[in-house]
Amino acid sequence: MPPLPPVASAMHPPWWQAARTLVFPEGCLVCGGALETDLFCGPCQTEFRKCLGPQCLRCALPWNPVAAGFSPQTPCQECRKRPPAFDAAVAIGSYDGPLRTLCLQLKSQRGGWLAPRLIDLLLSLHQEPLERWRTEKAPASLPALVVPVPLHWSRRWLRGYNQAEALAKVLSSRLGLPMGKPLRRARRTPKLATLSRTERRYQLKNAFKLQRWSRHPVAGRDVILVDDILTTGATSNVAARVLKQGGVRRVYTLVLARAKEPR
Ligand SMILES: [Zn+2]
Ligand SMILES: [Zn+2]
Repeated sequence: MPPLPPVASAMHPPWWQAARTLVFPEGCLVCGGALETDLFCGPCQTEFRKCLGPQCLRCALPWNPVAAGFSPQTPCQECRKRPPAFDAAVAIGSYDGPLRTLCLQLKSQRGGWLAPRLIDLLLSLHQEPLERWRTEKAPASLPALVVPVPLHWSRRWLRGYNQAEALAKVLSSRLGLPMGKPLRRARRTPKLATLSRTERRYQLKNAFKLQRWSRHPVAGRDVILVDDILTTGATSNVAARVLKQGGVRRVYTLVLARAKEPR
C-alpha cells in the first residue's frame, strides 16, 4: 500500500515555521515561554514590573516627586538644575531586566517586528500625555510631527536599519500623525554613556543639522522626537535644540527605556 500523502501543515519547510514564530511569536516576548499576560510569561512579567514606576515628566527619569515631598508636577533634581531643551518625555520604564533585553533585540535588524508591540505597550501606559501631544495644536495649527532620531549614514548602512525610525513609523500610524525626517546626522558620534559631560558636549557639537529641504516644514510645529533609549539625555537634548533653532515650538521625547543615571 502506498504511503499516505503528508498533511498540509507538515508540508511547510522548517524555515517557514521559524519565520512564522519570529513574526507571530506565540510565547513570551522575552524568553518564548508560555504567556501569562498579552506579552510576557509569569516570571518575565514580574521582572518587567520592576522597571515601571513614576517618572520625571520632563526627562522620564525614575522619580516620585510626591514621595520626595514635592507637588506632582515637579521635575527631578537634574531637570531643575539643568532643564533639557525638550519640554517633556515618556518612557515605558527604566533600562533594566526584560525591557533592556527587548531594546537590545530591537536594535538588530531581525528585531523590527518588536516595534509595534513595544509602541503599543508604551501607548497603553501613557495615554494621557500622548493624547495631549497628539491633539494640542501649535499656532501654525499643523499636527505634531513624529521625528526619529537619525543615525549617521555610515552606521545606518552598517546596521541596515534604524530602530528609532521603525518605532517612529508605528507611532505615526497609531496616532494618525505625519512622520518626517527633518534632521540629519552630520557627524558620527562615539558611545556617549561613558564620556564626561564636557566630552559629550564636544562630541555632539554640530552632530545634527536640519535638512535644507524637508517635505514637512518644522517651523511653528510641535515635534515628537522618537528614540529607543534615553541614556544621558544628551543626544535628544542636542536634537531638540537644533529643532528649536529651526522654529519648532515644543519638543516631546518618546523613548522605550530610560537609563537610571541622570545626565
Ligand atoms: Zn518570559
Ligand atoms: Zn528630569
